[in-house]
Amino acid sequence: MDLPMVANYLQFTESNWKYKTESSDKYCMGLDGQQCNWPRGKNIGGSSVLNYMIYTRGNCRDYDNWKKLGNTGWSFADVLPYFKKVENFTIDEYKNSEYHNDKGYLSVSYPPYKSKVADAIIEASQQNGFPYVDYNGATQVGVSRLQVSMRAGVRESSSRAYLHPARNRSNLHVKKFAMVTKILIDPTTKQTYGVEFERFGRFYSIKASKEVILSSGAINSPQLLMLSGIVPKKHLKELGIPVLKHARVGFNLMDHIALGGLTFMIDKPYSLRIETNIDNRKFGNVSQPSQRADFCTWRLRSSPLHRL
Ligand SMILES: Cc1cc2nc3c(=O)[nH]c(=O)nc-3n(C[C@H](O)[C@H](O)[C@H](O)COP(=O)(O)OP(=O)(O)OC[C@H]3O[C@@H](n4cnc5c(N)ncnc54)[C@H](O)[C@@H]3O)c2cc1C
Repeated sequence: MDLPMVANYLQFTESNWKYKTESSDKYCMGLDGQQCNWPRGKNIGGSSVLNYMIYTRGNCRDYDNWKKLGNTGWSFADVLPYFKKVENFTIDEYKNSEYHNDKGYLSVSYPPYKSKVADAIIEASQQNGFPYVDYNGATQVGVSRLQVSMRAGVRESSSRAYLHPARNRSNLHVKKFAMVTKILIDPTTKQTYGVEFERFGRFYSIKASKEVILSSGAINSPQLLMLSGIVPKKHLKELGIPVLKHARVGFNLMDHIALGGLTFMIDKPYSLRIETNIDNRKFGNVSQPSQRADFCTWRLRSSPLHRL
């Protein structure tokens, strides 16, 4: 998982919850069962352990619009200090920029490997009038190499960035293989006082002395709220869960559009060819000695992107 080059394959391992969207005749129509895969990390560090490490902030106008809609504290000026607080920004030319900081925990850099194809695309874009920009700076319109959450060429997951430095703290306890099944909420005061979790078939309750922070991602956070009795009215009868509060939990969930088909055929392989750089039979076998190795091999051979 530390190796950026194999990022594309991690979602075909047991590190992914392997969610799929409902079958639909409005989206994901070219895919098996008219369903999209919605990969989500199933490990410490969550999806940051299997994502593509691209470090791109939202556009400043979106945040300003959120504020205009009545969300105090969400303008770009409000969120910028937090973006900066996160970063250990290591790209030299922007180091003194007012948009960046190098004292945070998450290392951000250019990937150390640069292909000739990338150089050609940047040059062509500049010839067409696009300036080279820090797209996490004053403007996002232009061309740039990717800024990525990597340190010295190694994936900088949120686990590596935040948990590794804190691992010797006496007040940090991490429980692996623990599945939270419910947030404990007092039905009268509506105060959260702990969580219930399942581990190897046994259920446990743990009490919070101060607060519970729910951070199980865009799919599982609303799911846990619902399991805990904070549900949209519609689910009341369907699931028979005792209701503490009606709320439109999980509504307005959105994904970004992804295009898997933009493929360029070029004469010579100028980029990294994963199949010539990694023995993928060995790679497939690292964590699971099963037919999964064949699956990875098949993906490598058939994916048009790798003809590059
Ligand atoms: C394939 C892929 C590529 C991506 N590429 C990029 C990219 O290049 N750049 C970018 O900015 N973003 C990218 N993203 C998105 C980014 O990774 C996520 O937005 C981010 O990790 C979300 O963080 P989170 O903490 O909200 O949730 P997650 O990172 O999903 O973490 C949730 C954690 O909670 C755990 N969990 C869930 N339910 C329970 C439960 N009941 N009990 C116990 N634990 C539970 C999960 O196992 C997981 O560890 C990508 C995502 C994927 C899947």
